[in-house]
Amino acid sequence: MRIKQKLNQLVGHTPMYEITCYELPEQVRLFAKLEFLSIGGSIKDRLGFYLVEQAIEEGKLQPGSTIIEPTAGNTGIGLALAAIQYELQAIFVTPEKFSVEKQTLMRALGAKVVNTPTELGMEHAIKKAKELAEEIPDAFLPNQFHNEHNPNTYYNSLGPELLDDLDGKVDVFIAGAGSGGTFTGTARYLKENKQQVKTVIVEPEGSILNGGKPGPHKTEGIGMEFIPRFVDTDLFDEIYTISDEQAFTRTAEIAKAEGLLVGSSSGAALEAALQEAKNAPPGTNIVTIFPDSSERYLSTGIYKGVE
Ligand code: PMP
Repeated sequence: MRIKQKLNQLVGHTPMYEITCYELPEQVRLFAKLEFLSIGGSIKDRLGFYLVEQAIEEGKLQPGSTIIEPTAGNTGIGLALAAIQYELQAIFVTPEKFSVEKQTLMRALGAKVVNTPTELGMEHAIKKAKELAEEIPDAFLPNQFHNEHNPNTYYNSLGPELLDDLDGKVDVFIAGAGSGGTFTGTARYLKENKQQVKTVIVEPEGSILNGGKPGPHKTEGIGMEFIPRFVDTDLFDEIYTISDEQAFTRTAEIAKAEGLLVGSSSGAALEAALQEAKNAPPGTNIVTIFPDSSERYLSTGIYKGVE
């Protein structure tokens, strides 16, 4: 019998899929790691379990403790799953603008969701989470924006999986950044374990990496208002800033052409990967990440205009 008995056995080792619906230059191949096929529906399941398991190991969490975390939703869902496995409580602080589906899923998994005003941004949600952590006894704040275990999650799982899936043949790695944990941990692992690899970070317009000012954007899950300390900017071999329109166009396209129902941060990563592919020399393998599914954004009109 091949049976899984723990939720954390259903996280990671997602499929690596080759995108073939685009005409690419000679011998250039494009691959996407399908993270939306994880148990909680996103790449952040890896983070939720890693942060909780590290905290348990370090004696910062025990059964009955309360996890408190600012999150756009996917990290919350990952943490809520870990909370179920390890018998913890969970409270998440989420700016109102984030999709109602993600907020409903966090609640469905037994977590409490506290909303903060959209216009005050993620920094306010972080502040509110810290206040709650001081008020509530036996609280633990994983603090994904400051916790070194955030990039370590991906250094220890996604990085090795990418090399393993492609027999070491990763030439370009492209990932969107919200906290920057996925990009930083994976890029660091790849640079340390592969002699030549280009690591490319993706942000939406309204994010600050290319010198822009923080501003509103509809691409959900990526975009930075500040650069967390664990983000190593030396790893930015290139930065792509992708408009909402480009991201949503690719998101709709990849559904119809490849049958991949992915969120808009996947669309942004895909657009960057296609721009990168245009000038890539023959023999280049480009790998990107599709972090979550479009199903959690249907109420936001993710496919508006193409239905
Ligand atoms: N895409 C989606 C849909 C996400 O929820 C996130 C995390 N906010 C990311 C990409 C970016 O991940 P990271 O925080 O590791 O940069």
